[in-house]
Amino acid sequence: MAKLFEDQSDDTQTRPGGKRGRAGRVPSSDDRVVGVAVNANLWRSFDYLWPTSLPGPAVGQRVRVSFGRGNRKVLGFVVDTNRRPGEHALKAVGEVIDAEPQFDDVLWQLGRWISGYYLTPLGMSLAAMIPSAVGRHAAKTEAVAYLQSHHADWPSTLGARQKRVLDELYEARKQGVEPVTVEAIRHASGCSRDSIHRLSRRKLIRVEARPVELPELTDAAGGDPFELNADQQAAMSGLSGKLSAGGFSVTLLHGVTGSGKTEVYVRAIRQVIAAGKQAILMVPEIALATQTLQRLLSRLPRGAGLHSGLTDAQRAFYYQQIRDGGADVVVGPRSAVFAPARSLGLIVVDEEHESSYKQDTAPPYHGRDTAVKRAQLAGVPIVLGSATPSLESMHNVEAGRYDLLSLPNRVRGLPMPRLEIVHLRKELTPGKVELLGATLTRRLAEVLDRGEQAILLMNRRGYASYVFCPSCKWMFECEHCSRPMIFHQATQMCICHYCQETSALPEHCPACSGKLLLFGLGIQRIEGELARKFPQAKVARMDSDTMTTPSQFRKVFEAFGSGELDILLGTQMVGKGLDFPRVSLVGVVSADTSLVIPDFRASERTFQLIVQVAGRAGRAELRGQVVVQTLHADEPAIQFAATHDYKSFAAWELPLRKEARLPPYSRLVRFVVRHEKLERAEAGADALAAALRPHLPPEVVFWGPDPAAIKRIRNKFRFQILLIAPRPGMIQKALAGRMERIVHDIPAEVLADAAPVSLA
Ligand code: ADP
Ligand code: ZN
Ligand code: ZN
Repeated sequence: MAKLFEDQSDDTQTRPGGKRGRAGRVPSSDDRVVGVAVNANLWRSFDYLWPTSLPGPAVGQRVRVSFGRGNRKVLGFVVDTNRRPGEHALKAVGEVIDAEPQFDDVLWQLGRWISGYYLTPLGMSLAAMIPSAVGRHAAKTEAVAYLQSHHADWPSTLGARQKRVLDELYEARKQGVEPVTVEAIRHASGCSRDSIHRLSRRKLIRVEARPVELPELTDAAGGDPFELNADQQAAMSGLSGKLSAGGFSVTLLHGVTGSGKTEVYVRAIRQVIAAGKQAILMVPEIALATQTLQRLLSRLPRGAGLHSGLTDAQRAFYYQQIRDGGADVVVGPRSAVFAPARSLGLIVVDEEHESSYKQDTAPPYHGRDTAVKRAQLAGVPIVLGSATPSLESMHNVEAGRYDLLSLPNRVRGLPMPRLEIVHLRKELTPGKVELLGATLTRRLAEVLDRGEQAILLMNRRGYASYVFCPSCKWMFECEHCSRPMIFHQATQMCICHYCQETSALPEHCPACSGKLLLFGLGIQRIEGELARKFPQAKVARMDSDTMTTPSQFRKVFEAFGSGELDILLGTQMVGKGLDFPRVSLVGVVSADTSLVIPDFRASERTFQLIVQVAGRAGRAELRGQVVVQTLHADEPAIQFAATHDYKSFAAWELPLRKEARLPPYSRLVRFVVRHEKLERAEAGADALAAALRPHLPPEVVFWGPDPAAIKRIRNKFRFQILLIAPRPGMIQKALAGRMERIVHDIPAEVLADAAPVSLA
């Protein structure tokens, strides 16, 4: 990594009788000592000498320091520019990455808020806010690859990842976007740099260097494709005043699927830009973001579209553009909330109910909630949009904290799709293992007859999921995680969905040598059933087994969009955001898989899933039809979804949450304690519980320690403590400044999460 400023003195320091400079020296009274928060799970900052040759110090500057006994070089942030020199020997800061801090006041405060609210050390929280390539000397060239072989010549001995590299390049050529940067291929295929170079030595691909290509900002010169309808206009006039006045406000835009929410976002963003300000538009992290992204960017001027396909250099370039005012609007997933827009005028969070806004690694921040906090700190309006708002946001409307705007109708007078709830047990032929009941089969036949398209949603992937011994009840589980190994028909292998461990299918039960049974009904099974029932139909399957690279997505979407395919069969990923005009049928093969997850949000998720996937049908002139198969037809979540009745769903579910004192009427904080040794994890959880108790007010309810729902992941045993507080911020306030002492003597690793979206 290239360095902006490197301190020379570090290398010239000597320690009596020792190696150069590594142990540091005792500061004198003229030395400048700074506090540095390092990017590690440690709740304190560390003192370092600040050599006079370095620019700064300034709070927020990124530095690299040698840390710990191994003198690892770690990323850190200056948090204090003037510490009093003590008696201990100190190391010097090794390198300054930014001459000036990347953070402005608001982002700095936001980083501190994330650390306090999500109970994650400051250094780790700040590190998540800046793409790592920012501030590096930009490389002038990059490696790109071309395909250099014919499909027929690909050796059958290639590994799955190398094969993916070739597939990816093959697709790129077909789409005329060859060559592809090696970085992007590595990202898409999971292949190492070395294996890619082995492909080039075998002359299957060609790798060469070319000058770095920086991405371009969008340029939407065209006018508006249509006038806003009356509902949209009413929503816009509700927003317009807030946008021009500025100041913090939160508006929940509840618009049914296909009501034209996007157009409202676009006009609001344009108004802000016209006033010389910048905007951030957040979209959920889904592979489909590409379709949404293209649609949005084509309507926005000087926009930067952040997505997972960017190279590090491109990401850093956009970051710089946003900070220097070259870009007016940023569209991206949850990390877009940290875009360094200096003259921010508006934040929009689309599909605000999406759980993918929550980051599951540290810092476990929620993109929507962090966006609301940023808007508050910056004093700007924020708009949260959804057809199925989270109950948290709805509760905030009821409490008078958020304003509500509604788009109750679809655009152009289109009707909402008709929903049929069918009871699976009544629909299936006894003795036959089928997943498509009579109604859904009939509807599919009708759609195919008319030459229209259908989307089928199935929650579970794989075929014949579990491996099980009926005589002694042995179940094949992963060696490293307490989760079942899932058998996949296509590869004939068993795989753990948590750590990707793979294994062959055992021939006999290892416990009793009995015959093993495969059970569980998955998406590949429906594929087979469709092939039997509708041999003429062209079906594409879309799940994380078949869609491993972005170009595979593009390919399927293009084929579906152009009408080459009749049926799109997929997991949750087909349920969100798609806008295909010829789709007149949506089938939910089983609405129940999400109801059996033991989670207090299960019925909220089921409701959202059905309404959202139903919203993919009938978005143009064709009337939409939705068939939902279930074993629990009486579930209120399913009944309310059948009539697209969000209001009644909220009115039914909210009082239940209130009675149970669950969010949004309380706040959860969860601690996970993990260790490779079971005893250490358990003892650690007990010690943590004991250390937490004295600090927490008596109203905080304490659950645990208990083994976590998934007892072991990647060889680490996990225990959890769940805290429930009646008021927001109560636990955080009680623990502020005390985390270091609390975790100090815990014999295992402690990870915290506030407002967890899943309790797995
Ligand atoms: P939502 O996000 O609410 O589901 P979209 O914003 O995707 O809905 O809009 C649905 C479709 O309606 C899009 O194809 C969009 O171009 C179109 N549309 C939006 N506003 C109007 C309007 N005022 N008149 C006609 N069509 C519109
Ligand atoms: Zn595993
Ligand atoms: Zn057995």
